[in-house]
Amino acid sequence: MSYEIRVEKTNMPKPKPDMTKLGFGNYFTDHMFIMDYTEGRGWHDPRIVPYQNLCLDPATMVFHYGQAIFEGLKAYKAVDGRILLFRPEQNMRRINISNERMCIPPIDEEFAVKAVKELVMVDKDWIPEEEGTSLYIRPFIIATDPYLGVRPSHTYKFIIILSPVGAYYPEGINPVKIYVESNYVRAVRGGTGYAKTPGNYAASLKAQVEAHEKGYTQVLWLDGIERKYIEEVGTMNVFFKIGGRVITPALQGSILPGITRDSTIQLLRSWGIEVEERSISIEEVYEAHQKGTLEEAFGTGTAAVISPVGELNWNGNIITINEGKTGPLSARIYETITGIQYGKIEDKFGWIQEVK
Ligand SMILES: *Cc1c(COP(=O)(O)O)cnc(C)c1O
Repeated sequence: MSYEIRVEKTNMPKPKPDMTKLGFGNYFTDHMFIMDYTEGRGWHDPRIVPYQNLCLDPATMVFHYGQAIFEGLKAYKAVDGRILLFRPEQNMRRINISNERMCIPPIDEEFAVKAVKELVMVDKDWIPEEEGTSLYIRPFIIATDPYLGVRPSHTYKFIIILSPVGAYYPEGINPVKIYVESNYVRAVRGGTGYAKTPGNYAASLKAQVEAHEKGYTQVLWLDGIERKYIEEVGTMNVFFKIGGRVITPALQGSILPGITRDSTIQLLRSWGIEVEERSISIEEVYEAHQKGTLEEAFGTGTAAVISPVGELNWNGNIITINEGKTGPLSARIYETITGIQYGKIEDKFGWIQEVK
């Protein structure tokens, strides 16, 4: 394929939104990246073009059978003015893991990082600078054959769009109330849980809606076979601090391997804190709470980085964790990862890539 990205700039730039009232995923920048795949020809025609609607046949396969994958990462305006990405090569590696599961042809990971960087440079004026804000990057791939038979598509589009987003915690990091989901499941081993694919999200909406109705922010997902072992919290990976050790469910096929999860494990180990990747049951968490050894619980993901859990409701049995406050370890991980992302703390792990 040609590694030259054709750039067609808009002659009608949009007015910028109020960068103090962005929220998440409401605004999109002036440009987008697209590249096409055709069987026999491979990925071709990479280009940056004005942000625009897609024109697709109603029979386009992604609308009917959901053959698609996506990613999520951010560009940060550092305190010294540099533009930084956090481990973007990991997102592109994960695209190919998701692709493999969804029968989508692999992309060139290095080229995809380059495409992200070029697009961010073209729209760099859209990177917000207020504390905690960032430019959210959404790469995704859709199956585009106009065909209603069930089989993998022969054509695809790889698209990257950008959205300036506000601080996740405008009033400071805040614990959430979580409903332990004993009925619906998110994923099962052998399914698509480890792939970042839209169907997993579609399958999770009903539990989320019902949890909201009960006054909870998100659900804690249990395993699909016994409804016993903990998997994830909402769309984040989950960690528990019990008796000085940190425990997170092992990756066994139903859990999405988060980059924030991996970064958190590496950080904790570098601080001399023991991390166990293993099965952990909801009973074990409640027993630890009873014994007084459950110290902290938190989710990890790109959007929030760390989301402390202040309360759990398991079949009406409600427990409060760390008095409903953010624990010291949760706060330390949050400050360290965001500190590295905004260039305030030395990047000892080689996680940062500068866009220039
Ligand atoms: C994306 C995602 C995560 C978090 O992954 P990060 O790479 O840390 O952002 C966790 N769980 C699910 C289900 C996800 O889709």
